[in-house]
Amino acid sequence: MNVHEYQGKEILAQFGVGIQRGVVATTPAEAVTAAKQLTEETGTGWHVIKAQVHAGGRGKGGGVKLAKSLDEVAQIADDIIGMQLVTPQTTAEGKKVHQVLVAEDVYYPGDSEPKEFYISVLLNRATGRNMIMYSTEGGMDIETVAEQTPELIFTEEVDPTVGLLPFQARKVAFNLGLSGAAFKGMTKFVTALYKAYVGADAALFEINPVLKTSDDKIIAVDAKVTLDDNALFRHPDFEAMRDIREENPTDVAAREVGLNYVALDGNVGCMVNGAGLAMATMDLIKQAGGDPANFLDVGGTADAARVEAAFRIILQDPKVKAILINIFGGIVRCDRVAQGIVDAYKNMGDAIKVPIIVRLQGTNSDIAKKLIDDSGLEVQSAVLFQEAADKVQAVLQ
Ligand code: GDP
Ligand code: MN
Repeated sequence: MNVHEYQGKEILAQFGVGIQRGVVATTPAEAVTAAKQLTEETGTGWHVIKAQVHAGGRGKGGGVKLAKSLDEVAQIADDIIGMQLVTPQTTAEGKKVHQVLVAEDVYYPGDSEPKEFYISVLLNRATGRNMIMYSTEGGMDIETVAEQTPELIFTEEVDPTVGLLPFQARKVAFNLGLSGAAFKGMTKFVTALYKAYVGADAALFEINPVLKTSDDKIIAVDAKVTLDDNALFRHPDFEAMRDIREENPTDVAAREVGLNYVALDGNVGCMVNGAGLAMATMDLIKQAGGDPANFLDVGGTADAARVEAAFRIILQDPKVKAILINIFGGIVRCDRVAQGIVDAYKNMGDAIKVPIIVRLQGTNSDIAKKLIDDSGLEVQSAVLFQEAADKVQAVLQ
């Protein structure tokens, strides 16, 4: 799950990571109040107004602006809130901005040497270790740095059972060319950042830029935070940060009814019970010459309501030209699933315009096949796995 920059910074701050301070606002009036509050707390007279959307490159798209007075705060907040923000990381349509982060200006006026760094923490799947990736080239696209000056990107691997060792944090600060108070500040920053990554059960932290202010403070100016969905149950306060306006509507619908759904690029929708069988089904579709449009695990309770919900989710994808239902009746009886399919099909009236191939194997599969065959619906039944995949291919020809 992704969270907004302001929420990511809240998480970082909880673990003692230094951040650029800010207050979120949904109207220009709120933005002005936020700016006044920040002036009281930090003494800053200038503020940055930052669009809060789940996409990077906001600066380039006009979603990050400096305000040098309260009038400018109101004006810029008014311009940004409600805008359709297009950045190198959004579609051409862009993303609607519902709120802004009003933050203290940390590139102090007349600043001699603010320095921007890049620091991320992520899992290196190849080594099974966490990894701190960092660079002196902050504020830029890390992909561009990787292409043009890969020698300026460093990595530090961390053994998850031991954690980040003090010498590793010092190495990061050293490689970033720091000394004195900034060196100390950076080792503290990196140590807290790693703790936060582990403590929050994060999947990715990308802090770009990390800023060294002219008075040698080290703070996170931006925060891209991705949390591990599978660990969210341990963090109800983070789960509450979910902003479904930023998420794919189909994914949201699937999660609401408790279906395990991942959209893919192909044209064969699949509905399967059990993640392993779903994977095998996708393989078989591929082997038969097709392409799965999704992964969908309906789980152990495939009743009519669930089957219908799954149909609706699959059909939201206009690429779907056929649906393959592959159910193994172990705990669930095949005839109940078949009845569920027939009921859902009838309930949905004309909504289903694509052929459906059903394979039900296991307890009461013979009764189930008869139910489908006798339903008079345009549902084809197959019993063998391969047969089902071939039938899908046949209807797509
Ligand atoms: P992104 O474009 O979505 O990555 O958003 P960032 O939060 O990284 O902001 C983009 C750029 O805005 C940063 O690289 C900074 O150069 C600039 N910026 C951010 N905060 C401040 C600030 O407090 N003062 C000034 N002058 N510029 C800032
Ligand atoms: Mn950034």
